[in-house]
Amino acid sequence: MSQDTFKALVLTQENGAIHAEFRQLTNDDLPQGDVLVQVVYSSLNYKDGLNVTGKGKISRFFPMVPGIDLAGTVIESSSPEYHPGDPVVLTGWGIGERHWGGYAQRARVKSEWLVPLPHGMTLLHSMAIGTAGFTAMLAVMALEEAGIQPGEREVLVTGASGGVGSIATALLAQRGYRVAASTGRTETHDYLRELGAATIIPRSELATPGRPLESERWAGAVDTVGGDVLARVLSATATGGAVAACGNAGGASLTTTVFPFILRGVRLIGIDSVTCPAARRRTAWERLARELPVDLLDRISRVEPLSRVKELCDEIVAGQVRGRIVIDVNT
Ligand code: NDP
Repeated sequence: MSQDTFKALVLTQENGAIHAEFRQLTNDDLPQGDVLVQVVYSSLNYKDGLNVTGKGKISRFFPMVPGIDLAGTVIESSSPEYHPGDPVVLTGWGIGERHWGGYAQRARVKSEWLVPLPHGMTLLHSMAIGTAGFTAMLAVMALEEAGIQPGEREVLVTGASGGVGSIATALLAQRGYRVAASTGRTETHDYLRELGAATIIPRSELATPGRPLESERWAGAVDTVGGDVLARVLSATATGGAVAACGNAGGASLTTTVFPFILRGVRLIGIDSVTCPAARRRTAWERLARELPVDLLDRISRVEPLSRVKELCDEIVAGQVRGRIVIDVNT
């Protein structure tokens, strides 16, 4: 078995430039870990786009197999927790960044990073969710824990037609929140309404710096954009509201004032899906299995072959991907 070859996308770096090429590897090439997984699907996230295109410094060393998500079945395990044939999901923990990731037909990983595939979920749907959907669930949980209840006032989702944004919109709408979805793409308005958005906010309305305090508008927000958009969101969040900051698709800097925090008690909650502890991870995945209808996941996602992943990475970094892309590593 160890000399069987399998396909992987491998990143190398030369004179500061990233090269991505498909190679045949053997199990002996894989990094250390106590579980060997037959990968069936991976997924495409913004971070994968930054990694494979070289537009962000994501990989900590080279050669690197990118892909921050994977789902498959256990082939070999020296962990008592997992046995051959078990279906498993892995998102984050630095795979595709500090440890070889999911854009390969096999992966050797640490058992403590794995989550058993939740009951009732398929491997395909687990990757339609992936890091993006898991992050969306963590953001929704953070808003709930901050006491933001469904009510008259809207909860805003920025970057709504992206992966995190689409699933956050759907999850919040399913739970009875009135969702305002902000997008820069007019062609996604119908899609966002289908996911449950009550109001569409053009991205341009949020893109310029506003006053330190705007009229109170949002009960809370899931922000995937960062930068001026996040500052604008904070300034219009109502008294007692909370904003879950997930991403930086529009910028990493944040210029704001303390007024939303000290005059309205607004909370800014950071979401980190990569190192989320195991118990919270399982809770989030179990909730995703219960709360995201399968037909909705099918509408949000599509499957693409690993052979197309390089061009798809260009598209996601250019903001052209709608919803979620599952990567079939066997095609
Ligand atoms: P996507 O590319 O799928 O979605 C990002 C969305 O942001 C786009 O669809 C677009 O939405 C919007 N957007 C893109 N460029 C800009 C821009 N220049 N200005 C304003 N809006 C923009 O990415 P993901 O959903 O995978 O990730 C979203 C963000 O969340 C990323 O920054 C990612 O790194 C981060 N992330 C963080 C995680 C964490 O653990 N904290 C985990 C997962 C992701 P639209 O067209 O609707 O406007």
